[in-house]
This record gives sequence, C-alpha cells and structure tokens, in this order.
Amino acid sequence: MKELKIDSLMKTYSNGVQALRGVNLTIKEGMFGLLGPNGAGKSTLMRTISTLQEADSGTITFDGIDVTKNKMEIRKRLGFLPQDFDFYPNISAVDMLNHFARLKGVTNPKERKEIVSYYLNKVNLFEVKKKHLGSYSGGMKQRFGIAQALLGEPDLLIVDEPTAGLDPKERNHFYNILSELGENRIVILSTHIVDDVNELCSEFAIIHKGEVLLTNNPIQSVEDLNDQLWKKLIDKSDMKQYTDQYKVISSRLQAGKVQITVQNSELPDETFSSKDPDLSDVYFSTIPADEIV
Ligand code: ADP
Repeated sequence: MKELKIDSLMKTYSNGVQALRGVNLTIKEGMFGLLGPNGAGKSTLMRTISTLQEADSGTITFDGIDVTKNKMEIRKRLGFLPQDFDFYPNISAVDMLNHFARLKGVTNPKERKEIVSYYLNKVNLFEVKKKHLGSYSGGMKQRFGIAQALLGEPDLLIVDEPTAGLDPKERNHFYNILSELGENRIVILSTHIVDDVNELCSEFAIIHKGEVLLTNNPIQSVEDLNDQLWKKLIDKSDMKQYTDQYKVISSRLQAGKVQITVQNSELPDETFSSKDPDLSDVYFSTIPADEIV
C-alpha cells in the first residue's frame, strides 16, 4: 500500500505570506480531496509535492522516498495537472500527446501510437483527437490534461482545481473519468468545490490559511454533525442578534428572508427545526463563514 506522508511543512513567500503553516497529512491509495477556499495554500502544497517548488522546512515522503532529496525519482512516478495548464492551441491532441510520450521516453513509434490511443480513449477524446487543442471546450481541455498526466502510468497523480470553470454537464463527464483513477495509486484532488469531494473522494482534508483543520472520510464527517444542526428562517435585520448568540455556520437568502443554520449540541429553542447535515455543513462548520472568500 503506497503512502504519501507530509510532516510539518512550512512555506513563507518572499512577500511575507505564510502559505503553509506546519501541514501534516498522511495520504493513502485512492482519491484524496484537499478542500479549502481560495488562498488556503492548496496550490502551494500541490506544487511542493510535485517538486516544482521547495518548502522552507518539513518533509514529504512518498512510498518511503524523500521527495525533496530524490526529485528525479519522484518525477518519474508523478502525474500532474496544474491549475493553469495550457498548451499550444494550434496543435492537435494526438500530436501533442505523442510529443509528451516521446518526452517521457517512449521511443518506439508503434508503442507510442498505442499508448497515445489508449489514453485518448480513456478520456473520451479519441474521436476528436485531430482537432486543434485551441478549439476544445473547457471540459475537453481538462480531459486532455488528465491524459497527459496519465502518460507513464504515475502512481501519484495530482490534479489542482480540475473542475473550476466547468459547466455541470462537463463536470459530470469529468467526474466519471476521474472516479476510475484512484485504483492502485494515490490521487490528490485539490478543490474549493464541496461536491468534488462528495462525488469522488474516499478521504479528504480541509485546509485553511495554510493549516489542516480536519481530516476524515466524507461520510463519517457528516455523521459527526448528526443532531447538531438547526435551521430557522429569520428577518435579515435580526442576523446580528443570531450570530452574537449562536454559532451560525451558514446563511442563505430564501424568499426575501434568511435561512440560517446553527450548530449547537441541543435544540436552541422551539422556533428552530432540525437539519440533516451534508458535506457543505462540515465545510462551513470547520471554516468560519465570514472567512470564506
Ligand atoms: P490556493 O491554491 O488554496 O488558492 P495558494 O497556494 O495559491 O492557495 O496561495 C496561498 C497564499 O499564498 C495566498 O495568500 C497567495 O496569495 C499566496 N501566494 C501564492 N503563490 C505566491 C507567490 N508565488 N508569491 C507570493 N505569494 C503567493
């Protein structure tokens, strides 16, 4: 069973921003969600694991190998889909993948063709393989990004915010492809979208301001909130009174009023009714709502 272990990872950028403040995580095979708002430190962590940048202190070991001391070793076993993945718009998907496969050391043209076709099929782009990448939709581009990340059969796959900007249909299609990837390898999916974790991940962590606030599996984390959530429809003008008195984890407008969700170990009073928890409640109960940008 492969394992990625992150210990006391710290990173402060030269502008003084503390992006990682002692991150500890143990990640096993399967799909692991790294959930947090913008600016939480997800990309910094992903880039550090991918050996693209270095932390100030702390260690990362993958399958017993020290990542910072054995960069080439890790790169051979790593697939990475960065957040701002972009490529030459005037090249076809098949030509670009062929090029990447050559860079990965597949020198035999026949073997290369087979590998490229295999991955194009896997991400449902085989039919459109000759189209220029510039003509691809957002979802197609992300699927192409997965194909390039999978070349070389990585046993550590990192995808940074892959569903941001996809419409619901494209997102679903992408989920179907991602859901198969967690077998026999570690996949880390960084995201600010709670549904990504709900749909795909067997384990997840919530990261905020460079710190891991919670690690759990999604089902257990939701169960932990059973009998703790209460909802009430209030007037907007009463909001402050409730936030002063209770832990209001979220609020949303409903027909001109505000529906609030309060976390409390017992029914606050008879004007509240109980609410079944879901994963977004876990998220909001972990990260203060006014700190989510
Ligand atoms: P996330 O991926 O969760 O949005 P990031 O890792 O991109 O978070 O950013 C964490 C914090 O570090 C943010 O405050 C961001 O502005 C800052 N940051 C990220 N990259 C740099 C950089 N190269 N130089 C300075 N600050 C950075």
